[in-house]
Amino acid sequence: MLTREIGELPYSGAVAARFPDPSTHYATPGLAPDRRSFTTNAELSQWLRRLSETPLAHGTRATLLEIGHSQRGTPIQALVVTRAQGVTPDILDATKRPTLVLIGQQHGDEPASSEALLVVAKELSQGVLEPLTERLNVIVVPRANPDGAEAGSRATANGIDMDSDHLLLNTPEAQALAVLVRDYRPIAVLDAHEFTVAGPYLEKFKALQSYDALLQYATSANMPAFLTKASQEWYHEPMVRALKTQSLSSEWLYTLSSEPNDVQLSMGDARPDSARNVNGLKNAVSLVVESRGIGLGHTHIQRRVHTHVTAITSALHSSIERAESLEQVRSFVVRDISAQACRDHIVVEAASTPEQRDITLLDPDTGADKIVQVDWNSSLKLRTLQSRARPCGYWLSSNASTAIERLTLLGVQVLRVAEQGSLLADTYQQTGGSAATAQEALASLNGQPSAQRVQVALVRSAIDAPAGSYYVPMNQPLAALVVAALEPDTQSSYFAHRLIGDLADTARVMSTPALLFEESE
Ligand SMILES: [Zn+2]
Repeated sequence: MLTREIGELPYSGAVAARFPDPSTHYATPGLAPDRRSFTTNAELSQWLRRLSETPLAHGTRATLLEIGHSQRGTPIQALVVTRAQGVTPDILDATKRPTLVLIGQQHGDEPASSEALLVVAKELSQGVLEPLTERLNVIVVPRANPDGAEAGSRATANGIDMDSDHLLLNTPEAQALAVLVRDYRPIAVLDAHEFTVAGPYLEKFKALQSYDALLQYATSANMPAFLTKASQEWYHEPMVRALKTQSLSSEWLYTLSSEPNDVQLSMGDARPDSARNVNGLKNAVSLVVESRGIGLGHTHIQRRVHTHVTAITSALHSSIERAESLEQVRSFVVRDISAQACRDHIVVEAASTPEQRDITLLDPDTGADKIVQVDWNSSLKLRTLQSRARPCGYWLSSNASTAIERLTLLGVQVLRVAEQGSLLADTYQQTGGSAATAQEALASLNGQPSAQRVQVALVRSAIDAPAGSYYVPMNQPLAALVVAALEPDTQSSYFAHRLIGDLADTARVMSTPALLFEESE
């Protein structure tokens, strides 16, 4: 059998032959011939700095921003590519051009995402994509998790998977992205990843993954329907077509459970903790693109990078073509969300819907297609597990300052009670579940799924709101994120993850408060 050098995977020449290199050849430090490692943090930084120092054509400028530091102290860098005369959010806003944010390598073991963003940063600054800056501002964050990239590991240095940390914001890496999105209010955010090719697929299906790309937009409870429709019709569908034109196959994003006997496939889920879902709840078109790459080393790296570059280019064009309509959708959605405060219901928790679906895998020996019918949990149709009357806002005690700080990083408007007063509220009374043990709490801090789960009942009463306590109004654009953070009995909530220590520290305010407030820092 013809075999190439294909690393540790059980991966035949026949499989490899299914994935020819693209006609375009991409060049970054990590893509150099005979290179064994990918672009290092130092090389990445140097690449971006060179782009920012090169005089560019047509008034396009590339400016390097340091948006934060990793846990080990490596700068997290963003390159702002724009024809504006500066790079502050106000100056970019004044251009009336939409701003896009492109994020790479939240997971350190998914190198094609950052190599591709280095290519895109260069092409936008001084290459074939440069003309697009006449109509767009683009902020490229090629490597969101420098420590993970250095170690070749998925998580950040302290073991937290930062892509589950966009609501809690326990890591400086997720905080850096939150502040960037809060300040620049991008119309679209694209988050680039890679997916596992063999691993559990080989064990459970005796097959390898076949698709070049897995794609998905935000699918979370309370996502505005118009934004979902815009994501699908204006971004997702053109992206699928663009990939197909390049002979690159795609499917919805899905994952396979690590449980040995579980062969269900689940689409990217509804939990409001990933960049995809949180940025969607910030009323941006929010897309994930994953290339076929984890575990492949440098195998097919040109094709993996080409997959990302093709998908990102499609998203850039979509943003140009739809900018005006999308601004209209967004301003409608923002007004609509705010107007719903105190009315109707909000979904507290939702889950995907079981279906069956045929997916195409590959025979690991012959490389032939292997079509498998699977149990498939669809996130395109969400089932409501729990809903509640939509409050006018949430009251938080002065003990909840950590929660307030995180909400502020997300861009949520928070008010401080200036003078003591009374509020009509639903308070939470625990009816079941148990507080996490110390060990569970520690596991939770380490990014494990363990969270303290409670069942609650609502008790209507007048509560006392002392001066210095907080009020988070629901008549604001990020109301759905507020619900995700503050309803205590969900897996992703601030209470479940101990950013709020006690159920008595929060309450749902059920009539418009007549209190004196001041803006909270
Ligand atoms: Zn990933």
